[in-house]
Amino acid sequence: MGLALKTQVRVKCPSCGKTGAATMASGERDGVRIASAPDGFYVRLAPDNSMQIACVECATPAHEGK
Ligand SMILES: [Zn+2]
Repeated sequence: MGLALKTQVRVKCPSCGKTGAATMASGERDGVRIASAPDGFYVRLAPDNSMQIACVECATPAHEGK
């Protein structure tokens, strides 16, 4: 239940320059966020529990959700 807000986020790998459009969904409860990473990127959890979208090849964070 709850209202999920979907946002398109442009992500760009600072290392190799690859770009993509990720979809971030948030709203359920505070701190719960769902992201879907575009091709060539993956979603991971940062040590502070924020969401990161990182480049598959470089493992460099391309976007950090707050
Ligand atoms: Zn990269």
